[in-house]
Amino acid sequence: MEEKIRYMAEQFECYGFTFSELQKRKFYSFYEMLVEKNKVMNLTGITEFEDVVDKHFLDSVYVNRVVDFHKHRKVIDLGTGAGFPGIPLKIAFPELQVTLVDSSKKKIDFLGDIVRELELENVELIHARAEDLAGESGYRESFDLCVSRAVANLCILEEYCIPFVRVGGNFISYKSGDVDNEVKESKKACLLLGGRLNEVYKFEIHDNRRSFVVIEKKKETPRRFPRKAGIPSKNPLK
Ligand code: SAH
Repeated sequence: MEEKIRYMAEQFECYGFTFSELQKRKFYSFYEMLVEKNKVMNLTGITEFEDVVDKHFLDSVYVNRVVDFHKHRKVIDLGTGAGFPGIPLKIAFPELQVTLVDSSKKKIDFLGDIVRELELENVELIHARAEDLAGESGYRESFDLCVSRAVANLCILEEYCIPFVRVGGNFISYKSGDVDNEVKESKKACLLLGGRLNEVYKFEIHDNRRSFVVIEKKKETPRRFPRKAGIPSKNPLK
């Protein structure tokens, strides 16, 4: 275990992150609980320690390159699954107030165990579909930042995510390196929902090409969005 923690700390250092002993232990416990639970339910295809560090932990926290967490404290992670990127973000930046949303009850229950075991404060877990939660006061137009990774195509995702963001806040989608067409095809949806594309930030973590699509909320989202549950994915805004 100590060797693994050392390896993880080195990797974090390579990408400019220095964490306390407590933070490193929390990352390690998260890894252990993830692979343990993965034996009985499908949480992730990535289980080798080195891969979890690169593809889950580093990938999640690298977003600090494009967002200032001093200004963006209230964060929602839409379709968090086994907690990515929300849990690593909370461990790395403990001052964040994080809401984790997923439509799978089992995954939200798993995250309940994680939050208890890691003693994470100010983490809210919600079992809901984005389309339903986005209409509720206290959630709609309420977050400084919405993040989402590996949930849907960008034009669908924008309808799920942009309604949660306050005007002036950001929606950041974690995507693979090859995202230019998807971005182009989602321009209209973005505008309709009150967003504007700020940048596509491309980076590599150990030869793995990734992108952050950074959208700024410019105007309130019209009330008719998101459409009823299931419609955005069946009939994406284009
Ligand atoms: N973000 C995680 C999980 C990706 S899998 C990661 O990067 O590893 C996609 C997750 O999105 C699944 O857990 C699924 O239950 C959830 N999801 C899909 N559509 C959703 C919706 N409309 N509302 C809420 N969660 C949704």
